[in-house]
Amino acid sequence: MRKLEGKKLVVATHNSGKLREIADLIGPFGFETTSAGELGLEEPEETGTKFEENAYIKAFFAAKSTGLPALSDDSGLEADALDKAPGVYTADWAIEPDGHRDFDKAMKKVEDALEKKGATTPDKRHGRFVSVLCLAWPDGHAEYFRGEIEGTLVWPPRGKKGFGFDPIFQPEGYDKTFGEMTAEEKHGWKPGDKHALSHRARAFKQFAEALLEN
Ligand code: IMP
Repeated sequence: MRKLEGKKLVVATHNSGKLREIADLIGPFGFETTSAGELGLEEPEETGTKFEENAYIKAFFAAKSTGLPALSDDSGLEADALDKAPGVYTADWAIEPDGHRDFDKAMKKVEDALEKKGATTPDKRHGRFVSVLCLAWPDGHAEYFRGEIEGTLVWPPRGKKGFGFDPIFQPEGYDKTFGEMTAEEKHGWKPGDKHALSHRARAFKQFAEALLEN
């Protein structure tokens, strides 16, 4: 695995919710981070059909554009009753005809699709969040870290914390949705901890163990 030299890193995202979480997670390691959004980089088209492919597209584009290593996250929500949709296309389910993203409507779309499949009891509403982190270098080399968290898709949405689909996702073994958790509760991890909770924190834990911690 290629080591990360230096302390400068671009976070290859334009999504403020993800950026906040990645900044939280990487904060303790003393990196100087900027984001693709802050640098005014274009958002490359996500043409892949796998989380890994889209994560690479975003990280490599930012690395090539800046000459620095870049860390991206490609993530999404998979509902078993919907054959793992929205999956890689989770962000697209929130796009409105005028181009802006509306997550209240997107959550309702997931709910309508589940109801259409007759998935109205908790046992039929199992799903997971997936996060694939990709660290890419300007020469094209890349390393990947995947995290997943299983849970139940609830309705109505609960909680105003977090972002995206957090209010309808209740992780297994918890009685709060991600939308009702503080960022610390949702990550459920700090450097040195054995376990992490969210998909992103689980992927980040592997990244930290492989490349950041001694
Ligand atoms: P992409 O990775 O930019 O293609 O988009 C991922 C999509 O999944 C976004 O629409 C997010 O709102 C959603 N998503 C990913 N991770 C989370 C999370 O931790 N909470 C809520 N929604 C998430």
